[in-house]
Amino acid sequence: MTDSIDTARASADPLITDPRVTDPRQDLLAFATRGADTRVDLVGMERAALEAALVELGLPQFRTGQIWHWLYHRGATDFADMTTLAKPLRTRLAEVFRMSRPAVVTRQDSGDGTIKWLLRFADGNEAETVFIPEEDRGTLCLSSQVGCTLSCTFCHTGTQRLVRNLTPAEIVGQVMVALDHLNGFPTAQRDRRLTNLVFMGMGEPLYNLDNVVSALRVIMDGEGLSLSKRRITLSTSGVVPMMARCGEEAGVNLAISLHGTTDDIRDELVPINRKWPIAELLDACRAYPGVNNARRITFEYVMLKGVNDSVDDARRLVRLIDGIPAKINLIPFNPWPGTAYECSDDDTIERFAQVMLKAGYASPVRAPRGRDILAACGQLKSESVTLNKRERRAAEAAE
Ligand code: SF4
Repeated sequence: MTDSIDTARASADPLITDPRVTDPRQDLLAFATRGADTRVDLVGMERAALEAALVELGLPQFRTGQIWHWLYHRGATDFADMTTLAKPLRTRLAEVFRMSRPAVVTRQDSGDGTIKWLLRFADGNEAETVFIPEEDRGTLCLSSQVGCTLSCTFCHTGTQRLVRNLTPAEIVGQVMVALDHLNGFPTAQRDRRLTNLVFMGMGEPLYNLDNVVSALRVIMDGEGLSLSKRRITLSTSGVVPMMARCGEEAGVNLAISLHGTTDDIRDELVPINRKWPIAELLDACRAYPGVNNARRITFEYVMLKGVNDSVDDARRLVRLIDGIPAKINLIPFNPWPGTAYECSDDDTIERFAQVMLKAGYASPVRAPRGRDILAACGQLKSESVTLNKRERRAAEAAE
């Protein structure tokens, strides 16, 4: 939209026609004058919330689309750049609102093109986000929590206690930072590098489902970040009661961190299994909304030497997932300091994959990515919490 159209609409816009602040905006402006940090953050607001904030400021409805476009399509970080808005409006918006990004503490680039960012949020907590480029896609692995409650024994993040859930703004912010670094704005590029999202970073997304779904509504909006639900996968360790809601409200692909084929083994590897054992988990997979042959459930299976990698395990896995449209990702274990596990050897992984293949399941062995920067699956960890005694001993033993 041009400045002249903007001027023509000014008569419908009380913020421009009458810069003196009257009732509807007073609260927000008073709030804004208390200091820069107290300005209302627009990033992560769903469309309806953004519209309500703008209307509260006395702006007409059509401003929502314009500002949304600048925020999420163009990636603006400064209201001064919103050149389709008249200058007085840009100035006023900047007084009341901000457009925040998490701060980048470090960026590490792996030799294989993987990029890991350690991000710091406004309260000082930190989480990691990883970009994995492949030939036909670029996948961003998002965190949903700082730390994790679930203590999966093969996972580095699981040694870090839960600090808190990430907000929708902090989840959307991870995408914005990645797009900034990948020159991903404007988002409508034919050769866009960031094409897929997975929630496989720090945290259990189904324990933060409200915020994840809210963030996804922003991320999937076709006039902004515009990532389709078909290209988004949410990975859960098996929070059975939340799975149906995830399918209904987010409609994204589902991945299950399975990793074991008996309850005994899975109780050890993924302790949430004691609450919702394998049979219940697989029933919830069978009932997952929208699951079909075109939209299969991914089962993640980390290959741990002598623990879960036998041919018997493979055959049991085939029997377990019978009737579920599925694919299996075999993940060579990525070691981290202090772990007791080792990665299965190549022949063992190959034998396992062959059993799956003969049973008709695609079972790619996922090439480890970003190992040199501890960005591979299960290796993420920030320093947002102090280690407890057991964890400290494990970490010390590894040094
Ligand atoms: S695998 Fe996922 S759910 Fe389990 S501890 Fe690690 S981050 Fe948490």
